[in-house]
Amino acid sequence: MADRLKQVVNHIFSSNMSSADPFEKKVNLGVGAYRDDNDKPWVLPVVRKAEQILLNTPSLDHEYLPITGLPEFTTAAAKLILGSDSNAIMEGRVTTVQTISGTGANHLGALFLERFYPWVGKKEIYLSDPTWANHQAIFKNVGITPINYPYYDPKTIGLDFNGFLNALKNAPNKSIFLIHACAHNPTGVDPSKEQWNAIADMMLEKGHYGFFDCAYQGFASGNLDNDAWAVREFVKRGVNMLVCQSFAKNAGLYGERVGALHVLSSSKEAADRVKSQLSVLQRSEISNPPTYGARIVNLILNDAELFEEWKRDIATMAGRIIDMRQQLYKVLTDELKTPGNWDHIVNQIGMFSFTGITPQQSQALVEKAHIYMTANGRISMTGLNGKNLRYFAGCLDKAVR
Ligand code: PLP
Repeated sequence: MADRLKQVVNHIFSSNMSSADPFEKKVNLGVGAYRDDNDKPWVLPVVRKAEQILLNTPSLDHEYLPITGLPEFTTAAAKLILGSDSNAIMEGRVTTVQTISGTGANHLGALFLERFYPWVGKKEIYLSDPTWANHQAIFKNVGITPINYPYYDPKTIGLDFNGFLNALKNAPNKSIFLIHACAHNPTGVDPSKEQWNAIADMMLEKGHYGFFDCAYQGFASGNLDNDAWAVREFVKRGVNMLVCQSFAKNAGLYGERVGALHVLSSSKEAADRVKSQLSVLQRSEISNPPTYGARIVNLILNDAELFEEWKRDIATMAGRIIDMRQQLYKVLTDELKTPGNWDHIVNQIGMFSFTGITPQQSQALVEKAHIYMTANGRISMTGLNGKNLRYFAGCLDKAVR
């Protein structure tokens, strides 16, 4: 029986293995999930602890959750992103619904706006150029047309701040802008605090709606509060908005699909109406969200000791990513004297980095060096580790010479 079980488990997990390339030094920089220094998925120690607690709680059953999710989880999730001292929460102006991770939050938010946003003209949403590939499909799926706003400037490999601000200025009043809360995917380029303030000013002046997508809280700086700064500031300043939250990356719970949608309203009465509208939508889509991952995150968020341990786990992941950025920068600039400016490697933030190399150069890296990355030159920093960093830096150096 034990052998049979092992066989089944092996079969399930080996079917997930990546590329068939047998080259020993191959490097996978296309992966969208954290890898440790041995290039292995990392189950957070705090998650293991929470799982043990669940296993040892025989009173837990497999009944359905309420339509809007596990109440202790949704309450704690709102505090995590909006701050435990959030006035909006204290005034009862936040509606939180547990969703199928960040993707589900984006979908439910999109569906909600399609039905209930006081549209003036066409149903459109402004997305950063570029953005997470799934955003386009998520909005088209519910009948909202995506429009690009300038975000990334290939000349500076940084933020096209003026382009972004002009797009906010020139869009019709009460437009909806999707904004990455931190660690912009795929560029790793975030506005500075000063730039966030100017963006908030323009959003308020134009009456725009902010569709905040927060998939990397804690992953960017290693600190949960720092990475929630922009969201909290926009809420404080009264920007109309919703927030999509994912626990895939910061809790390493990718496949468990734990997330939440938070909709900000102007009053408790409006928030209650939003809750009943979201419940109707959620009921027809998934009836009610899954229990397992929400129970894990619930334990972590609501137990002071586990919460502190989680913060240390997050700092471990973010710290390793930041370390890889610094090492790569050092090897390219100090040792190899690779042509060009590589400051963006350390200035960008989060899991992804836009290297600024051309599609031809990234193709050459794939074909000649077995280094896998997206054609736009985006690399996932978590694919780098102590064993492959020098190989990657050397190949990158050759590709750009
Ligand atoms: N939003 C952004 C910007 C992302 O990068 C991702 C994942 O890569 C998601 C949302 C959704 O992730 P998940 O559905 O796994 O929580």
